[in-house]
Amino acid sequence: MAKFTPAPGLEEALALMIAPDVRRIALRVEAAAKSLAPPTKRWVTVGDDRVRPTHVDAQGQEVPGNLRFTLNSMDWDVKHRGVGPSTYMREPRDRSSRAIANLKNCRCSTHKDPDGIARLINTGQPVVSGKKVTVTVYAQGPLVVEAEVGTVYPGNLVADGAHFMAGGAAIAAARR
Ligand SMILES: [Zn+2]
Repeated sequence: MAKFTPAPGLEEALALMIAPDVRRIALRVEAAAKSLAPPTKRWVTVGDDRVRPTHVDAQGQEVPGNLRFTLNSMDWDVKHRGVGPSTYMREPRDRSSRAIANLKNCRCSTHKDPDGIARLINTGQPVVSGKKVTVTVYAQGPLVVEAEVGTVYPGNLVADGAHFMAGGAAIAAARR
């Protein structure tokens, strides 16, 4: 009975040889993930002296587009609307936050950055360990995990995940 045994070091040599191909596939995953990544949004006040303190504190807060801003609650909303110490808004004047006082006469807006999350997605160099090649595509930054898989805020406010990393991998796999 014949049995094939690779020459010593052959599998390791093959791993080194295919490493660039594995990285090319990973770069396709990165590109697809970037195309699916949500924008980020930033809370912007009009900046005059009539902006309420809870919105002055929110000025500049940046979150992934599928998530909510976190604002300090106003006492009236805590007493009458049952919100906790924080109020979670998708955008200024968001009634789904259940607040009323914290929305009234608000003149704030949001500024969107279409590449806010895409910019955080990168591909590492191939790591060859014995006969195994590993290339990691990663998203690193504030709230990227929540942006990918979603989260639930107090009061059972659900933010769906954008699944841009999983979706990117699925697109790249389907193209093979
Ligand atoms: Zn406001």
